[in-house]
Amino acid sequence: MPTLVGCNTCDGSGAKPGTSAKTCGTCGGVGQVRMQQGFFSVQQTCPTCHGEGQVVSDPCNDCHGQGRIEETKKLSVKIPAGVDTGDRIRLAGEGEAGTHGGPSGDLFVQMNVRDHAIFERDGKHLFCEVPISFIDAALGGELEVPTLESRVKLKIPAETQTGKLFRLRGKGIKPVRGGAVGDLLVRAIVETPVNLSNRQKELLREFESAMDDSQQHHAPKKTGFFDSVKKFFEDMT
Ligand SMILES: [Zn+2]
Ligand SMILES: [Zn+2]
Repeated sequence: MPTLVGCNTCDGSGAKPGTSAKTCGTCGGVGQVRMQQGFFSVQQTCPTCHGEGQVVSDPCNDCHGQGRIEETKKLSVKIPAGVDTGDRIRLAGEGEAGTHGGPSGDLFVQMNVRDHAIFERDGKHLFCEVPISFIDAALGGELEVPTLESRVKLKIPAETQTGKLFRLRGKGIKPVRGGAVGDLLVRAIVETPVNLSNRQKELLREFESAMDDSQQHHAPKKTGFFDSVKKFFEDMT
């Protein structure tokens, strides 16, 4: 990134090599002048040296008397585990060079965590969606779930509805300032099968008629929904 670094040619003084900055004649090097205004005397920043106390009569060619030049620096930054968007990392002495050879300031690097393809982050907790087949959802099964370190197995109970959240404790992020590791929250998303063959479609039709014949409620949400709709229209009449 571009920053101001001390000029090597003049060692940050701003004066051409071999010459040096001279004490300002106007203020005597104080940087301030007193002006008499009637009865009052007013202290002001020296207009000749702009408060620096020194004037460069023979400015350095490289930095034009500024003592600093703009340079692009490449820095590598160690990112501690667990940093989040908005955290700042301080790099002591890597900021802009001071004026006239003064010490450099610090550089603050502001973190901005990029979105991840699989995980969403909420502080120390992670969140991800995992598709499951409607067979696994109905009968129960085992899912492979990605975590930051490895894959883990997650048992899905029978009759799992879409959107159900499973909490994997301690599989989230270790906070950078210490404290308990966060959790990984896995949302099971039941997927509708696509590209079915005629045979598969036939089996599903057969399955559907088996459901119709049964007196059980196989679809709690659907049953509840149509019961509500029925009641809604009954109440209207
Ligand atoms: Zn210079
Ligand atoms: Zn001055």
